[in-house]
Amino acid sequence: MTDNATNGQMIVCPHCDALYRVRMPEFGERAVCKRCHTVLIAPRAHAMIRIVALSVTNLILVIAALFLPFLQISRAGFSNATSLMDAVLAFATGPLFVLSLAVGALIVVVPMLRMLLSIYVLAPMAFDRKPLPASKRAFRLFEALKPWSMAEIFVLGCGVALVKVSALAQVHLGSAFWMMCVLVVVVLLQDNMMCRWSIWNALERRK
Ligand SMILES: [Zn+2]
Repeated sequence: MTDNATNGQMIVCPHCDALYRVRMPEFGERAVCKRCHTVLIAPRAHAMIRIVALSVTNLILVIAALFLPFLQISRAGFSNATSLMDAVLAFATGPLFVLSLAVGALIVVVPMLRMLLSIYVLAPMAFDRKPLPASKRAFRLFEALKPWSMAEIFVLGCGVALVKVSALAQVHLGSAFWMMCVLVVVVLLQDNMMCRWSIWNALERRK
C-alpha cells in the first residue's frame, strides 16, 4: 500500500483504547501499541495483490473440495465415500434441513462470500484503480462475517471425529480433506497479511 500521507490522523488501539497520532511505518516495519503491544499498523509491499491471489486460491480450493471425495470409510467389505456436498445435503430432506442450511452456510457460503468480497474490495486497488462502488460497505461485511466462517472448525471437528471412528472402521482421507487443511492455512496467512488500517486508509484516500 502506498498511501503514506496521514495528515495528523489519530489511531485508537483496538485492545486497550490508547490514542496515538499516526506515523506511517515503512514497509516491513510495524506500529505497535506502547501499552499492550497490539500491532496497530503493519504495511507490507504488494500486500493487496497477494491477498487477492490468496482469495482466488481459497475460492478454487472450496469449489474443488465441494465435489471431490472428502473421506471414505470401509468396514467388513462395505465402503462408503462422501464429499463435502454430501455432508451438507445429508439432512436436506428431513426435519433437520435447517442443519443442512447452517452447515452449508458456515463451511461453504460464508467463506466463499468473504473471498469474493475481499477480491471486490482489493483487486481494483491492487492495480492502482479507484475502489469500486460500496467498497467500504463490502469490506465492513467482510470483517463482520469473519466469526461466521467456520471451515477451519469443521476440519478440526472432522479430525477429532475420525480419530474416534478409526477404531471401528478403516478411514481413508480424500483429496478434499487435504484441500480444506490447506484452506485453513491460507486463510491464516491471508489474515496475517491483511493490515486493516492500511486498507481503510487506502479506501478513504482513493475514493
Ligand atoms: Zn494497546
